[in-house]
Amino acid sequence: MKTAIDKIKPEVRAVRAYHLPSLHASVKINQNENPFNAPEEIRREVLSRLERRPWSRYPPFVPTNLLERLATHTGWRADGILAGNGSNELIQAIMTATVSPGTKVMVIEPTFTLYGQFTKIMGGEVISVLLNDNLTFNVPRIASRQALAKADILFLCSPNNPTGCSISERDIRLLLRNTEGLVVVDQAYVEFGGDDFVPLLAEYPNLIILRTFSKAMAMAGLRVGYLLAAPELVQEINKAKLPYSINFFSVTAAEVALERFHYLEPLIDAIKTERNRLFAELQTIEGLIAVPSGANFILVRTRIGSEELFEALHARGILVRDVSKYPMLTDFVRITVGTHAENERLLHELRVLLEGHSGKHGTM
Ligand code: PMP
Repeated sequence: MKTAIDKIKPEVRAVRAYHLPSLHASVKINQNENPFNAPEEIRREVLSRLERRPWSRYPPFVPTNLLERLATHTGWRADGILAGNGSNELIQAIMTATVSPGTKVMVIEPTFTLYGQFTKIMGGEVISVLLNDNLTFNVPRIASRQALAKADILFLCSPNNPTGCSISERDIRLLLRNTEGLVVVDQAYVEFGGDDFVPLLAEYPNLIILRTFSKAMAMAGLRVGYLLAAPELVQEINKAKLPYSINFFSVTAAEVALERFHYLEPLIDAIKTERNRLFAELQTIEGLIAVPSGANFILVRTRIGSEELFEALHARGILVRDVSKYPMLTDFVRITVGTHAENERLLHELRVLLEGHSGKHGTM
């Protein structure tokens, strides 16, 4: 007998839900968030503007002021920018606008899960190309497989979540030249490192760039992301997005963050400095291999197994991300760069766990 659940598309039933258990810990370094809250100067200004705004009215249909500020911030034209409820919404909108049964989407794995998930939900075909063994982009492999398989869309992430590797401007140009398909580059972490591809938009009408306020801009709770592309593409992708999906609180907060970006810059610099320090320290710990990263997180391979390390750290009040289910990443955990004090605590616990003591540079 047919049941209600049979009405759900088989493509949807086949995918595993993107899910993160809500666990608590005093050091929360599992979601690549900014460890610093948004600066008080920004928060106060947002709240004062909100006081003057009636809640009964819809937000603007097109958030023109935000788009203009984003244009100034990025150096790209305002009519080539689309803002959404987090970059997640824009990934979904791109997929809704471009993927039908038979559409081929090339995804470079291991990477952010939503690219593959939405491709499948829309009935498309995922062409998975793996990174090099050392977790860097294998550009010849992408270029050749792309030509062979005639991918309609190449989706890549630079710096890549969860590995931290980046693709260079030279290589992205090579890929853009070698395809008639769309090339979507998710640059959610670009403020922390890697080449910024915005200057390429004027040359390549098939390039789409995604960015977010959730990481460097310290506003993950407010859900604002944006997409940059040729205005013709933006107009079409916009049709697949819900109207008013960013509420006026979040639009206002994003505007103020851009107007007062100088308050965020020192925090971004501090995260980069801590990332470099944390990477150097992790390399001195016996039984760990840290992967170089251009983002605000570091992937670490552990000899004690990722689940064991995750559990042991959680028991000590530190929440990291177990990424062992991703392709190529058995035995890996991903660690978000925290504040100096949080990183110190993490390093201490790792030394105790892996080396049996807390001193620096120790061996077993
Ligand atoms: N892209 C990448 C690569 C990410 O890592 C994330 C969040 N972890 C997102 C997009 C989604 O970000 P947002 O909060 O803007 O939806």
